[in-house]
Amino acid sequence: MRQARAGGYRRDFPHGVMFHRFHASDTASAWQGALSPAQFEAILLFVGIENILSPRDWMSRLQEGTLEPQHRCVTFDDGLRSQADHALPVLERFGLQAFWFVYSCVSDGIPVKSEVYSFVAGACGGMPGLIEEFLQRCPPGFQEQLRSPAFAAYEARVRAAHPFYTAKDAEYRFLRNQPENAAAFESLMDAIVSERGFTIDDLAQRLWLASADLAALSGAGHYVGLHSYSHPYEMARLSRARQREEYQRNLRHIQSVTGTTPACMSHPINSYNADALAVLRELGVRCGFRSNVTPPAHQTVNPGPLELAREDATNLLALLAAQEAASSRVM
Ligand SMILES: [Zn+2]
Repeated sequence: MRQARAGGYRRDFPHGVMFHRFHASDTASAWQGALSPAQFEAILLFVGIENILSPRDWMSRLQEGTLEPQHRCVTFDDGLRSQADHALPVLERFGLQAFWFVYSCVSDGIPVKSEVYSFVAGACGGMPGLIEEFLQRCPPGFQEQLRSPAFAAYEARVRAAHPFYTAKDAEYRFLRNQPENAAAFESLMDAIVSERGFTIDDLAQRLWLASADLAALSGAGHYVGLHSYSHPYEMARLSRARQREEYQRNLRHIQSVTGTTPACMSHPINSYNADALAVLRELGVRCGFRSNVTPPAHQTVNPGPLELAREDATNLLALLAAQEAASSRVM
C-alpha cells in the first residue's frame, strides 16, 4: 500500500496537478502509477472542478499576477496515447482543458525507453518485478555505485519528494540516471524487454500520441507545451548548448504540428538548473512546472513562473484511498 504524504494535501497556493499514465477501467492492468477514468474523475472532484482553470486563464493570470491559492490546472506529461484514450473523455464531460507537455523524438521514430520499460512492466506484473530482475542482473560496477554517498543523498532526496518510491525504485532510478551508465543500462533493459516478447517498434506505435492528435488537442483549446526533445533523465547535467537544442527542437516540432508557438512547459523528470531557465526565457517560455510541491531550498513553493509547483496525482490518489478507508471505519 502506498503511503500518503504526511500533512495531506496543501490547498494554500496555486498549483498544477500532474498526470502521467492511464488505463481502461475494465482492465486489471498494474501499469506503474496508471489511473483509471474513474480515479481521474475522483481526483478532479477532490481538487474541485470549480478551481480548475483553462490553460489560457492560467497563463494570463500567471502573467498578471492574479493566480489565487485555490487555482489549479490539469497537466499531462509525455504525450501518451493512454491520456487521450482514458482521461480526455472525462475532461470533455466537465468542459475542461489541460496542458499537454510532450517530447518530440517519438515523432521522429525514436522511442523514449523509460516509457517502454514502464509499459512492459505493466504487462508483466508490475514495475517491482522488472526492477528486481534488473538489479539482480546489473554488473558489479553498478552495485558499487549504490554504496556511494551520491546514492545516499539521491535516495534521501527522492524518497522525501515521492514517498511512494521504494528503496529499489530509488536504486533503479539512480543507476538509470547516471549518464555513464546509459549504454549498459539500455542494453540490459532492452534484453529484458525482448525476452518478454515485446519489440520496441511495436510498442512505440501504441504508446504515444501522433502529431494529428496533438493538432486536434490544440484546436480544442488545450495547450501543447514543451517537455524537451528526447526526455533526458537529467537535463541539468547537460551543457547549456545541449539544453537549448533539446528545447528548440521540441519547440519547432510543436510549432509545426499545432501552428502555435508554445509558451508553457514542464521540466522533464523535474531536472533543471539556471541554464535551463535562461534557455527557456530566451525561447519565449512564460510558464514552467516542476514535478513536486516541495519548495526548492530556501525558496517559496512557487519561486518563479518557470518553477511552478505541481502535485503528483498518485499522491492525491493515496490520500483519497486513506480518506475512504477512514470513513469506512467510522461507518
Ligand atoms: Zn516526462
